[in-house]
Amino acid sequence: MPDETRIETEHGNQTHEIRTWPLFWEAIRDGFKRFEIVLNRHYLPDDTLHVFEFVPCRMCRGRGSIQEYGRISEPKCEHCQGSGGRYSGRLLIVPVTYVVTRHRGLGREYAALSLGTPREEQGAHYPSDPDPHCIP
Ligand SMILES: [Zn+2]
Repeated sequence: MPDETRIETEHGNQTHEIRTWPLFWEAIRDGFKRFEIVLNRHYLPDDTLHVFEFVPCRMCRGRGSIQEYGRISEPKCEHCQGSGGRYSGRLLIVPVTYVVTRHRGLGREYAALSLGTPREEQGAHYPSDPDPHCIP
């Protein structure tokens, strides 16, 4: 193990809201994607992820702004009014089973999470934070 690698051994009981694009959301739901790379907000094993599906705007591809050649400022996307997309209402509840931080190749501000078996919530659900953490 590289010297700096840190494996979180404490156990938590926090819930973290994240959002992800449909391709990744479905890969988690279907059991193919068993990890997340996230900004490290003190994730611990036994924490729970609430994974909200976020459908990116087709015009700005989720950016919320339009890049124009030669312009420094990026005008707000008119199609999505700068929101970058919309929540579908679909929610997965996913246990965090393992947490690694400070690993070579993983930026200092990030954590790699192993995910347990996801459970899809019925009905429509939306994050309490309108802009939860997202790394598409
Ligand atoms: Zn847009």
